[in-house]
Amino acid sequence: MKLTIQCQLCEKEWREKQVIPLENVPDLLQRIAPGEVVPFGECPDPKCGGLCHQEHTSRLQVEELLRFLRRLAVDREIEARALRTYVDLLEKASESDHCEGELG
Ligand SMILES: [Zn+2]
Repeated sequence: MKLTIQCQLCEKEWREKQVIPLENVPDLLQRIAPGEVVPFGECPDPKCGGLCHQEHTSRLQVEELLRFLRRLAVDREIEARALRTYVDLLEKASESDHCEGELG
């Protein structure tokens, strides 16, 4: 299956493997606000550094990000409170998504 991720800044399309994963984007929380679409990762073009989105953000992807944020909250006490607020908002968002049906 061909899966491309589009950068919202330079609008280039990348393969999933090329995009810098979220856990390697250190200032992620300053760059996405609660309620925004969860990005897939960062644009691999060093001159760009925009956030990349899959065409459709699935609920599964949101749950993946929740797991990641919880791990991060354990590691970085300073950001823990902000992370918890963020996780709460994401959980509410994913709950309201339940009627779309399960994937796998
Ligand atoms: Zn880009």
